[in-house]
Amino acid sequence: MALHTLSLSVLSEKLRRREISATELTEAVVSHIERTEPQIGAFITLTPELARQMAKEADARLAEGEWNPLLGIPMAIKDNISTRGVRTTCASRILENYVPPYDATVVARLKQAGAVIVGKANMDEFAMGGSTEYSAFHPTRNPRDLERVPGGSSGGSAAAVASDMAVAALGSDTGGSIRQPAAYCGVVGLKPTYGRVSRYGLIAYASSLDQIGPITKTVEDCALVLQVIAGKDPMDATSVDVPVPDYREALRPDVKGLRLGVPKEFFEGVHPEVAQRVQEAIAALEEAGAEVREVSIPMAEQGLAMYYILAPAECSSNLARYDGVRYGLRVGAEKGHIGMMEATRAQGFGKEVIQRIIIGTYALSSGYYDAYYLKAQKGRTLLRQEFERVFQEVDVLVCPTAPTPPFKLGELVDDPVAMKLMDVLTIPVNLAGLPGLSVPCGLAEGLPVGLQIIGKPFDEPTVLRVGYTWEQIREAPSQTP
Ligand code: GLN
Repeated sequence: MALHTLSLSVLSEKLRRREISATELTEAVVSHIERTEPQIGAFITLTPELARQMAKEADARLAEGEWNPLLGIPMAIKDNISTRGVRTTCASRILENYVPPYDATVVARLKQAGAVIVGKANMDEFAMGGSTEYSAFHPTRNPRDLERVPGGSSGGSAAAVASDMAVAALGSDTGGSIRQPAAYCGVVGLKPTYGRVSRYGLIAYASSLDQIGPITKTVEDCALVLQVIAGKDPMDATSVDVPVPDYREALRPDVKGLRLGVPKEFFEGVHPEVAQRVQEAIAALEEAGAEVREVSIPMAEQGLAMYYILAPAECSSNLARYDGVRYGLRVGAEKGHIGMMEATRAQGFGKEVIQRIIIGTYALSSGYYDAYYLKAQKGRTLLRQEFERVFQEVDVLVCPTAPTPPFKLGELVDDPVAMKLMDVLTIPVNLAGLPGLSVPCGLAEGLPVGLQIIGKPFDEPTVLRVGYTWEQIREAPSQTP
């Protein structure tokens, strides 16, 4: 049997029963990567030797009777998440040779659970982008259609899972970077509540929005990965000390009496076939006993505008550390420290990153701060309040993840506004700090569509339950997916 094609939950059961070994599974994945990666380009760095070593350790633990769902499971890690001893580039020339001396907390937790790291996944440079074409190294192709983008910025993570080159992956989501590529590649992606998962060791883009989360083949797999990475971390002051529930327990195919809100603004301008697929899913959930009502979040329409002030403002500060002095690339050491910094940054950063640093610096500068940054912050508060108000009436919100099916490689690289519009339905969720899940929802123009489920802060259990219920309905024999 082709082990690499199976889900995490199925594989972990096989490992528990000792029907397969972690080494056997890792070998299956590694040789599948050798065959498949040349067409997809999902990785920046492959770590087959490390994977073999980790698999061996997992087998030793299994032999001693130890077990947990992630023990021996091959995973990909987005290349902005620090891995000790393994190059972590952020898909940027400026960090091309950077090898972190420590693990991100999420990586430390995966290692503790016994997951196997097969490689570091491609992404848009510093997670800025929506197609993975802004990687300084190479683009990634969508496994469902090689002429199309996998989405971004966690395009490598989503493509790796969709093409069975990893059983599961970690991505990061600042404005949609887990959910949008998950939707485009036909896999499951969760952006947890802000503060649910530690960001320690995640190379920062926009710290008030960034969150790490799972990209998986099924909702159950998503719950299993979240279980391991969620929780308070003393190394990240923004991680929240809220008890971590048993996420697998939440996975009942039951939405009876659950109130689903359909935010009307999230359907405006959406590709008609995408909207139709999502409406069909909502109708199926209603049929299964959910109460559906239309709601309104008018400020969501301003979300994109607020985000493209706030995220660049934060990035202009976060990326100031790449100065050629402390680590990463250094160019023009003979030019004095300002000259060296200029040369390093001009050579090390791609065009999109430079643009955002400039926009962010401008928005924060005296005279413009009130007009742009402060105004965007006020808007963000209003948006959050609108979500709070709506969540007094409904339990979750359901809408499309992305407004269109995946576009063609090269189609939007020169149209930054159109590219940014691909996150119009995911960004409001980051601005409000809420959990958002994308689950496959049929096809539009023959390409994957994502159903987005948005929940109250820390209510991942309900979000996962709705996603799980939809997945069961979708896979029921009477339905065509
Ligand atoms: N596409 C959005 C951007 O370019 C979101 C990226 C992300 O979530 N990291 O900023």
